[in-house]
Amino acid sequence: MFMNYKRSSALFAQAEKVIPGGVNSPVRAFKAVGGTPIFVKEAKGAYLYDEDGNKLIDYINSWGPMILGHAYEPVVNAVIEKAKKGTSFGMPTEIETEIAELAVSMVPNIDKIRFVNSGTEACMSAIRLARGYTGKDKIVKFAGCYHGHSDSFLIQAGSGAVTFGSPNSPGVTQGTAKDTLLAKYNDIESVKALLEANKGEIACIIIEPVAGNMGCIPPKDGFLQALRNLCDINNVLLIFDEVMTGFRLAKGGTQELFNLKADIVCFGKVIGGGLPVGAFAAREEIMNYLAPVGPVYQAGTLSGNPLAMAAGLAMLKTLNNDSELFNRLAEKTAYLHEGFTKVLNENNITHTINRVGSMISIHFAEEPVVDFETSAKGNNETFKKFFHGMLQEGIYIAPSAFETWFITDALSYEDLNTTIAAVKKVTSKF
Ligand SMILES: *Cc1c(COP(=O)(O)O)cnc(C)c1O
Repeated sequence: MFMNYKRSSALFAQAEKVIPGGVNSPVRAFKAVGGTPIFVKEAKGAYLYDEDGNKLIDYINSWGPMILGHAYEPVVNAVIEKAKKGTSFGMPTEIETEIAELAVSMVPNIDKIRFVNSGTEACMSAIRLARGYTGKDKIVKFAGCYHGHSDSFLIQAGSGAVTFGSPNSPGVTQGTAKDTLLAKYNDIESVKALLEANKGEIACIIIEPVAGNMGCIPPKDGFLQALRNLCDINNVLLIFDEVMTGFRLAKGGTQELFNLKADIVCFGKVIGGGLPVGAFAAREEIMNYLAPVGPVYQAGTLSGNPLAMAAGLAMLKTLNNDSELFNRLAEKTAYLHEGFTKVLNENNITHTINRVGSMISIHFAEEPVVDFETSAKGNNETFKKFFHGMLQEGIYIAPSAFETWFITDALSYEDLNTTIAAVKKVTSKF
């Protein structure tokens, strides 16, 4: 199969003239893998159809939301029917309560939920709430975890000192950076050290309970429980950023999967069924700190938008009513894992595969990938070849070695076999 991407290239050149880098979110621009991005025309189920007429099996799925496949009919119909009745009011609507009730019933340890427009907004608001509730300023995040692009999270480990963050984007101030502390994923000692050095100053620890933004990285046995214990001892709130994992790894997300309790949970991606939605949730005493009941300000003109709520509600209802869905997804992902391992070994390719539920990533790395450092050791030149090779075989994976593949229910076993065969063919030339 030889794929032609002429029209996509032309559209990209045109876009670059009026949109910075031709894209509205940087990873889409293919900078990490080279070449020019593919412009999608439409999508249905497991497949993308691009502007050059190519059909691609999709393993990004809008970076997670399309867990049931593209253009899932109940979601599409719910949006169309809602749109006919008006697209935004800036007034309360019944459907907001309906989706809130359903979300609260599906997710453990939450009493109330506030809807926003993106995962970024959810995480940004969650740390403000944690700071307001605890009366403390500092936050702890983990290197390699992504919580959206708000200032407090665009921080890297400062030179030398583990206790001090520094901005990793111009425009983020030193003033903001000094309140974000960086720990190492899967390394509880790094967290203890920060808590010790900043006694009484830390409001919250925020984490991706299964990391998905440095490839898929599962928490080591006991790591999250140890974090929970440290938070309890030090009077620190534990925030699970489940923007990626929420409504994907289980109905109740990782709290259910690992039988753990977070204090605040952030959502995005799946919860909006493909429309711009985020949310954050907690038990009542914490959520009542939010305006208009409490003192912590948070707002949004389009928050709880009727189209977004209709899409999200149709999505959550389906997930809630299908008791086999999450097992089915995990089985498909395990099948891929087994197939990939077999063909990569046959071709003598050094690799590590990580998988949790319907998240999976292939790393061209020798060592186990357990944190940002070990993920970054993966061979990026090999990944680039792999990415473009897969594309030529009609398979679309994320254009960066630091991303997870998202498995959808729309993928058939025939699609999975096609994908495994493509991995075999592509890597046989390495
Ligand atoms: C995608 C993502 C975000 C940011 O969500 P946006 O909707 O892109 O703003 C935050 N946290 C995690 C874990 C994510 O995967």
